[in-house]
Amino acid sequence: GRLPAAAAVAALVQEAHARYRGVADGKVADYIPALAKARPDWFGICVAGTGGAVHEVGEAAQAFSIQSISKPFVFALVCQALGGGRAREAVGVNATGLPFNSVMAIELNADRTMNPMVNAGAIATTSLAPGANAEERWRFIREGLSRFAGRDLVMDEEVYASEAATNQRNQGIARLLWGYGRMYSDPEEATDVYTRQCALNVTAHDLAVMGATLADGGVNPVTKERVVDAERCKRILAVMATAGLYEQSGDWLYEIGLPGKSGVAGGIVTIAPGKGGLGVFSPPLDEAGNSVRGQLVTRFLSERLGLNLFASQ
Ligand code: GLN
Repeated sequence: GRLPAAAAVAALVQEAHARYRGVADGKVADYIPALAKARPDWFGICVAGTGGAVHEVGEAAQAFSIQSISKPFVFALVCQALGGGRAREAVGVNATGLPFNSVMAIELNADRTMNPMVNAGAIATTSLAPGANAEERWRFIREGLSRFAGRDLVMDEEVYASEAATNQRNQGIARLLWGYGRMYSDPEEATDVYTRQCALNVTAHDLAVMGATLADGGVNPVTKERVVDAERCKRILAVMATAGLYEQSGDWLYEIGLPGKSGVAGGIVTIAPGKGGLGVFSPPLDEAGNSVRGQLVTRFLSERLGLNLFASQ
């Protein structure tokens, strides 16, 4: 099926914004110092249908760094380049049930694989990107994410510099994986490329279009360009459903019933397969690092637009 009629979607997007605008819970991330500059009242929502229609409200054009929302899209590009079998075997696809930057998750799994939605698996995924060196791998990722968005995405230099100066933990994770044979190119370079990919600026509008591309079997519904094969999309959506919101992925799937992915700058992307993508931006986060208003809006719209994948009608 498709999304409900355009006027109904537009009205619900407006209603979601009005409903949750006043919510003041959560805290803007500050472990990456530059992120602390975000305004807690920024609030943008965008829905993009697989037919190409886009509905948005609030600060849907405000730029923010994509952070962990880059992870499913980079995994999709790497699966496309290497074959899904190879990527799965190299990175793993099981949920960790642990925070996104967990080292214990690596130690607890006998074969030391993770999943591409947490830092360890995401850095391993980035280390697999095709290219003779870090510069080429970075270009592959930036250009690929830009195709998902349908426009040229640019890195936020300040966010990159801020995270590069404070990401010793991610460097440690990459080295640990290297020691276990689970990094596939130089760990320092891979961490640097990963830090760059996380600092790419997007908007809620971009997230909706990127999500709609996964919803549309890999074809960007606005530019009509095929970014990845449909065969990849369903696999990426499966791993988002089980691990997209870190240790709260079970709660998310229970309430919302859709694959989604959050980032610490306050974005969340959600995919309604065959129907469309939802992008929400609101910087204040809960304890797990997921946008508070982003989750509220997504739950509301999943229910009111009838998107839950587990609903029988
Ligand atoms: N760049 C961030 C990090 O690696 C991304 C984390 C996130 O968005 N959850 O810590």
